[in-house]
Amino acid sequence: MTKIDLRKTQKFEDRHNGPDQQDVAEMLKVIGLPSIDALIDETVPAGIRMKEPLNLPHPKSEFQFLKDLRQIAGHNKLFKSYIGMGYYDTIVPGVIQRNILENPGWYTAYTPYQAEISQGRLEALINFQTMVMDLTGMAIANASLLDEATAAAEAMFMFSGLKKKEKKNAHTFFVDENTFPQTIDLLKTRSIPVGINLVIGKIEELDLTNEDLYGVLYQYPAGDGSVRNLKKFTETAHANNVFVTAAADLMSLALLTPPGEMGADAVVGTTQRFGVPMGYGGPHAAYFATKDEFKRQIPGRIIGVSIDSQGNKAYRMALQTREQHIRREKATSNICTAQVLLGVMAGMYGVYHGSKGIKHISLKIHGFAQLLEKGLNSLDFKQLNEAYFDTLRIEAESSVSDKIRTIAQVNEINFRYFENGDIGISVDETTRVDDIQLILDVFAEASGQVVKFDLDSEAAGLEVELPKDLERTSDFMTHPVFNQYHSEHEMLRYIKKLENKDLSLVHSMISLGSCTMKLNATAEMVPVTWPEFGGIHPFAPLDQTKGYQMLFNDLVDWLSEITGFDDVSLQPNSGAQGEYAGLMVIRAYHESRGDMQRNVAIIPTSAHGTNPASAVMAGMKVVLVACDERGNIDVEDLKLKVEQNSNELACLMVTYPSTHGVFEESIKDICQIIHLNGGQVYMDGANMNAQVGLTSPGLIGADVCHLNLHKTFCIPHGGGGPGMGPIGVRSHLAPFLPGSPVVESGGENAITAISAAPWGSASILTISYAYIAMMGAEGLTNATKLAILNANYIKAILEKEFKILYAGSKGRCAHEMIVDCRDFKAHNIEVGDIAKRLMDYGFHAPTVSFPVAGTLMIEPTESESKVELDRFCEAMLSIRQEIQEVIDGIADEADNVLINSPHTQAMVLEGQWEKPYSREKAVYPAEYVKEAKFWPTVARIDSAYGDRNLMCSCIPVSDYAPEEAVV
Ligand SMILES: *Cc1c(COP(=O)(O)O)cnc(C)c1O
Repeated sequence: MTKIDLRKTQKFEDRHNGPDQQDVAEMLKVIGLPSIDALIDETVPAGIRMKEPLNLPHPKSEFQFLKDLRQIAGHNKLFKSYIGMGYYDTIVPGVIQRNILENPGWYTAYTPYQAEISQGRLEALINFQTMVMDLTGMAIANASLLDEATAAAEAMFMFSGLKKKEKKNAHTFFVDENTFPQTIDLLKTRSIPVGINLVIGKIEELDLTNEDLYGVLYQYPAGDGSVRNLKKFTETAHANNVFVTAAADLMSLALLTPPGEMGADAVVGTTQRFGVPMGYGGPHAAYFATKDEFKRQIPGRIIGVSIDSQGNKAYRMALQTREQHIRREKATSNICTAQVLLGVMAGMYGVYHGSKGIKHISLKIHGFAQLLEKGLNSLDFKQLNEAYFDTLRIEAESSVSDKIRTIAQVNEINFRYFENGDIGISVDETTRVDDIQLILDVFAEASGQVVKFDLDSEAAGLEVELPKDLERTSDFMTHPVFNQYHSEHEMLRYIKKLENKDLSLVHSMISLGSCTMKLNATAEMVPVTWPEFGGIHPFAPLDQTKGYQMLFNDLVDWLSEITGFDDVSLQPNSGAQGEYAGLMVIRAYHESRGDMQRNVAIIPTSAHGTNPASAVMAGMKVVLVACDERGNIDVEDLKLKVEQNSNELACLMVTYPSTHGVFEESIKDICQIIHLNGGQVYMDGANMNAQVGLTSPGLIGADVCHLNLHKTFCIPHGGGGPGMGPIGVRSHLAPFLPGSPVVESGGENAITAISAAPWGSASILTISYAYIAMMGAEGLTNATKLAILNANYIKAILEKEFKILYAGSKGRCAHEMIVDCRDFKAHNIEVGDIAKRLMDYGFHAPTVSFPVAGTLMIEPTESESKVELDRFCEAMLSIRQEIQEVIDGIADEADNVLINSPHTQAMVLEGQWEKPYSREKAVYPAEYVKEAKFWPTVARIDSAYGDRNLMCSCIPVSDYAPEEAVV
C-alpha cells in the first residue's frame, strides 16, 4: 500500500527550475558549500536581505491556473470593434498562429546577434523590411519599432538631428491635429525634454516658410479617416527645407498612392492589421521607413545582406550596428528590444497572401466601407470624409450619437465617438455583409427608421471606387518570396525551413548575461492566443475589459511586493522605455517641487548603453562615474561627481547587481549619498533575477526601477521582442506615472504617454502574471537562489581554465559571471572566435563584449538543469583545450578550428578537405553533438562587406553580385 496526500498538486516550481535535489547536492559539493543558503549568505550582503518572505498568493498548479484564468478572461467582453485609431481586427492565418506565435522554435529565439545560427528569422525580417519598403514607397526600412506613436516620435527626433544648414537653429516640429491622439500625446512627451517646440494645428493652414520649422508629421489616411493628397504640400515643404513624415496605415497603401511616392522623407506606422491580434494594445510591430540618404540615422535594427567566408549570401544586422543609434551620450534613440516576433508574423502574412492577396484584402475592406456609406446614406446619415479607405465619419448630433451608442452596446458593437457627436466607423478584414446589416439596423433603430436598402444585391455587385487622384498605380511585393507560398503546405514548409535554421531554447541553453533567457513555460504562453485577451481593442470601454483590469490589479500588487515599491505602471513596452518613463517621472517630480534645474544623471561607466541614451532623451546631462578594479562603483569618484553637481543632481542610474555580476556592498551608502543631495535613484532592473525574494530595489534604497518582463518574468525574447518594461515607484513618484489621452489611467498628475496603448503590450502581461501565480513566493525565491547556484557552479568549473573577472568579497558571483578572453588575443584568437566555435558544439554564445570588451558574460538562469550546465561547461573546456593547442603551436595560428568556425555541412562535404584538422574535429567536437547535431546554415559572416554594399531588402540570389569580395 502507498500513502499519498490527495490535497497536494504538482508544483510548477519543479518544472520551471532546472536542478532537482540531487543536482543541487552535487553542485554544492563542487562549489564546496554545505547548503544553498550558505551560498546565498556569501553572495547577497546581509544588510540588504529581505527579512520576511514575499507576500504573494499560494502558488497554483498549471491545470488550476489555466482553469482560473479562463474565469478571469470571461470578464472581458468581446465586442465587435469599429473604433479604428490604429488598431483593427484581423484574421491571423492559422498556419502562422500555430507555427510562429505559438511555436517555441520561433518565440524563444534571442536577438539575432549570432547571425550564423539566425538565418531564419533574419530572412523573415528581410521579408518584413521589403514589404514595408514596397508598400510605403521608401528606399529602406528597419526591422520593427515598438508602436506607431513611438515610431512617429523617433522620426521627429531623427530629423531634428538631420536639420539642413539653413535650418540649423530651427526647433519647431508640426503635427497635423487630424492625427491619432495617442501619437500626438507621445510627440508631446518626447519633444519637451529635448527642446523641440511641438506645434499642433491644421496642416492646411501651416505656413511652411516659417524659419523655425524643421519637420512635419501627418497621418495618412488622417486620424478621422479622410485621405488627402499631400504631394504638392511635400514639395513646398522640401523647398523650405522642412522634412515630411507620414504616419500611414500600411494596409491602405495597397490601394492608395504611398507617401513615399508623394515625396515623404519618412513613413512610419504599425503592421498590426497584418495578422497580429489587437491584444488590448499589443504587442505589434511598428515600422519605420525612410530615404536611403538617412540610413545611418535610422533608429532600431536593420537587417542586411552580406556574404559568408565561403562567398555565399548571408543575412546579418547591418551597419556593424546592432544598435547603431544607441551611442551612449550621443544616442539618437534608446530602442533596444523591439518587436521581432510580431514583425516576423506580419512579414509572413505578406508572404502568405502575396501582393495579389494583400491587394484583394485591401479592396474588400474599402468595398465594405463604401457599402456601409451607401447604406447609411439611404438612412439619410451624412458621411463627412470626401475620400477614405476604411473609415467613415458620420455626422451626428450628440443626442443621436448617444442613442446610437446605447443601441450599439446592446448589439455588442463599439464605434468611435468624437467629441462633437460624430461617429467614426472603421471596417477591417473581418467585416462581413452581416456586420454591415447590423450596423445599419443600429442606425435605423436610433433614428426610428427601417432599412430599405437591398444590402445583398448591393454587396454582390459593388463597384469599388477609389479616391480620385489617390489611386496607387505602382506594383509592390513583386519579389518571388511574396508570390510562391500561397498554399498552406508551401507556407508551412517555408516557415519550418526558416525555423530550422535558427538555434533557440528548444535546442540548448542560451546563457546570455544580462538577458536572462529562462524557461518560457507553455502554460504561461497558452492564454496569449485566447480570443478574450487577443480580440480586444485598446480603447474599448473599461466596463468591457474587467478581466484585464483584474489581471492588471493583481500584477501591479505582485510586482509592487516583489520590488518593495508602492505602485507600478504597466505602460512601457521595453526595458529602455521603462528607463525613459522612470526618468520622465523623476523629472516631473523635481519640477513639481520647483527644482527645474535638476537635470544631471550620474551613470556608471559599466552601464548598459540604453541608460545614457534614455537620460539624453529625457533631457538630462550625463555625468559618468568610474568603476573600481573589482567592478564596483568607485564611491570616492561618485562623491566627487555628486558634490560637483549637487544643485543640478536629478538622479543616479544604477544596475543591481551590477552589470559585472556582483552585489555591491556599498549600494545602500550610494543611494544615501544621492538622496542627501536631492537626487533620486533609478535602478535598472535587468538583473532582477538575482534579487526576487532575497532583496529588492525598494529595500536597497531606490526610488524607481523598471522590470524587463522579457527577462526576469518569462515573456519570451521572440528573437528580439516583444518585451515589457513596467516601472515600479515609491509613493512620492506614483502621482506622475504615465497616462493616456484616450483611456483614463495613470497617476493623478500623470505625465503624457510613453506608449501608444495605456497598458502597453497588454496581452503578454498574461505571461508574467502566469509565472508569478504558479511560482508563488517560495518558488520565486528558490528560482533566484538556483540562478545564483547555477552561475556559481559554472564559475567553479570554468575558473580552473579561464580567468573570471570580478566577484563579491567572498569570491562569489551573483547570477552571472564574466569570462575574460583577452589573453588569447596574443595568439590571434578573439572572443568572437570562441563565440562562433560554440556553434559547432550546438550552443549559442553568451553575451559578447558587454560590459567589458573581449569577454563573455554567462548567465545560466535557474531553468537549466545540471546535465545542461555540464554539457555547456564541457564545450567551454574543450574550446579552452583547442585554444591551448594554438598557444602550444600544435594548431596553426592562421588556420584552426576556432578561426574557421562555425563549420557548415557544405564546408565538410564539398570538395577536398584541406584543413590541418579532421572533419570530425570540425563538426563533432564532443560526443553529445553526434546525437543531435545543430548545423549552422552559413559560415562566418563578413559584416564589413555587407556594410560597404548595403542591401536591406529581398533580392534574388543571382542579383547579388559582390563587387569587391574580401574573402
Ligand atoms: C536588456 C537591458 C536593457 C534594455 O532593455 P530592453 O528591454 O532591451 O529595452 C537595459 N539595461 C540592461 C542592463 C539590460 O540588460
